[in-house]
Amino acid sequence: MSSRRFAELRFPEVAERVGPTSVLVQPVGAVEQHGPHLPLVTDLLIASAAADAVVEERGEDLDLWLLPPLAYTKSNEHAWAPGSIWLGPATLLAVLDDLGRSLAATRATKVVFLNGHGGNSSLLNVACRELRLHHGLETFLTHPSVPPDQGGASTAEELGMGIHAGLTETSVVLHLRPDLVRMDLAARNVPEHLAANRHVRFGGAVSFGWLADDFGPDGHIGDPTAATAELGKGLFEAAVARLGEQFEEVSRFRFAAPAEASTWRRASPGATKAVPRDAPDNIR
Ligand SMILES: [Zn+2]
Repeated sequence: MSSRRFAELRFPEVAERVGPTSVLVQPVGAVEQHGPHLPLVTDLLIASAAADAVVEERGEDLDLWLLPPLAYTKSNEHAWAPGSIWLGPATLLAVLDDLGRSLAATRATKVVFLNGHGGNSSLLNVACRELRLHHGLETFLTHPSVPPDQGGASTAEELGMGIHAGLTETSVVLHLRPDLVRMDLAARNVPEHLAANRHVRFGGAVSFGWLADDFGPDGHIGDPTAATAELGKGLFEAAVARLGEQFEEVSRFRFAAPAEASTWRRASPGATKAVPRDAPDNIR
């Protein structure tokens, strides 16, 4: 495993070992309020543990390289809660651009963001395209579990609103770090009236800007009361297996068959990465 941790390489090894078939895995976490019962580190913990596990299982086979996790990200929906440490969207986009520029200096072309915080998802999609355009990288975004406000599933008991520190997330932390969970403080906090809406709801056709304290002062949205470590173990192991399959597909992903692409695109930054379209500081 240690041999698959990018930051443990010495710099001459980067040129030797990280190549065109490599997939760089960037865990993206958050440090933010997670209700009265879960720790600030929840999203960072889950993203890191999932990334560690999938690189441990599939790293050699798929030529994966684990980057150090991004801990502080776009948690401004939790800005009202002391303890949340957040970057604004423009800051995070700038950080991701710098990251892309740095990674494009290696021979790798593929970067996967493995994101544990739903508040980052929209911005990471924007960043994926920015890094494609400006640094010629092939970029991908996935989650240990897709957040319900991004189209993912949530339990019937939570009326599809297990958005933040609800049943599944609490269960996964109970599996990974039970010492950090206070189940005696876990309480249901589901904005039930939203379930009557056909369109304007989490994951509905009409999305809406929200802050976590729009749904009460506790900070979580969902029902963690039935969470168990056993449920968390099952969810976590299923997520790691699913991520393994996803990374396999990422590793063989091509926009078009090479012969076909060469007929319609003269300089494909993704294919060659030698000609970033507007990043002259990337060319030595
Ligand atoms: Zn979370």
